[in-house]
Amino acid sequence: MKKPRTWTAETIAIGSELLLGGRLDTNSLFIADQLAACGIELRYKTTVGDGLTDIMAALKAAVRRSRVVMITGGLGPTVDDMTREAVARATGRRLARRKAALDEMVARLAEWGRTPNKSQFRQAMIPAGADVLSNPVGTAPGFVLSWKGAFLAALPGVPREMEPMVRDGVLPRLQEWLHHQKAVGVTPMVRRVLHTTGVPESVVDQTLTGLIPKGSPIQLGIYASPMEIMVSLTGPAAIQPQGTVSIDALCAEARDRLYDILYGEADDTMESVVGRLLGEQKLTLAVAESCTGGLIGHRLTQVAGSSAYLDRVAVTYSNRAKIEMLGVPKHMIARHGAVSAEVAAAMARGVRERSGASIGLSVTGIAGPGGATDKKPVGLVYVGLDGGPNDTLTKEFRFHGGDRSIIKLRSSQAALDLLRRWLLKRGRG
Ligand code: ATP
Repeated sequence: MKKPRTWTAETIAIGSELLLGGRLDTNSLFIADQLAACGIELRYKTTVGDGLTDIMAALKAAVRRSRVVMITGGLGPTVDDMTREAVARATGRRLARRKAALDEMVARLAEWGRTPNKSQFRQAMIPAGADVLSNPVGTAPGFVLSWKGAFLAALPGVPREMEPMVRDGVLPRLQEWLHHQKAVGVTPMVRRVLHTTGVPESVVDQTLTGLIPKGSPIQLGIYASPMEIMVSLTGPAAIQPQGTVSIDALCAEARDRLYDILYGEADDTMESVVGRLLGEQKLTLAVAESCTGGLIGHRLTQVAGSSAYLDRVAVTYSNRAKIEMLGVPKHMIARHGAVSAEVAAAMARGVRERSGASIGLSVTGIAGPGGATDKKPVGLVYVGLDGGPNDTLTKEFRFHGGDRSIIKLRSSQAALDLLRRWLLKRGRG
């Protein structure tokens, strides 16, 4: 089968500070995500210092390999900001002051009660023929241009300036470019992402064995992280040649096979999925956390609009807090220990009854490194859920091989997943 011609991209992170060990190139992570969502595969990342010839060499090498090149950094006003000059020289274009870029910079500075200084005027110097990208957050404009059949974007290094510029400035232009390229015979790629939780990577791998037919251009990726195993399917968006299965059909098959370990797709997070289910069923939630220290509350409140269903989150770390704030019986803690199914159930019941919310959710466990006993090792966690009289459930988890922060992350995910499954079951009647 003829392999379709597809797009590949690379990033060039400019800045000597990125080579000195103090700072990480996080911009390329954001860009990789954004490009993947457009079905463009990031193949190379280069980090280069502030030297003019080094930047020019990096640019020339990138354009030889890739159709899309995203440069970040070096657009500021100082003498070591060489990106404009390097792009102009490498592409053989004149660097000239662009009125639109200057006007926008002057207006932005005026909003802040300032006027541009001499060095800032340099920021309005743009290579001839480039399309200027406005910077709604800072003063340095970015630009995009086409060179040797490649799409090239130059963006500020500061992440909070670069990110909106990619979303609002680069991606619409890139989509247009892709559209044009399609007409000249390059197939755009699409990516589908499925999120699973609660089982190890090997189980996801086995579940999906044989999914992709031999010779198919679609690639399956399985990526493990502390809270989930992410599955991606990447392949040409175009109608498949006869006899091959489309990416959407394969995605449907993957959904069926993963079934209840699949909790979301694309940009879904566990907290957004749980929030959606609570909203749909018009239920409210109260949470009592011990070893997660408020992490579940933090995650739930990351979702805009969560006040519609989240009533309260109690961090009851000590035994006294569990007794005073949730009404967990003192003798129960003495008999079973604070890390036990009995206490998890009493915490969930207590927080539900005291709040008047529809559901109480609780977590108690040993995040380590201390606190373990022979019978209760680090990583032992109990989750409790109380949905009303005679509707209490608990689940035991044993998280191995993680440090304190990973056990907290996994515990929060396990608790939210238990709630998700309970809500799904309730929703089905
Ligand atoms: P400025 O107008 O601030 O000079 P710039 O476009 O010239 O912006 P740089 O001077 O290269 O960008 O970087 C400014 C800051 O942005 C750096 O100190 C660093 O904190 C951050 N930064 C730069 N590049 C990256 C990167 N690739 N990943 C994460 N942060 C970065």
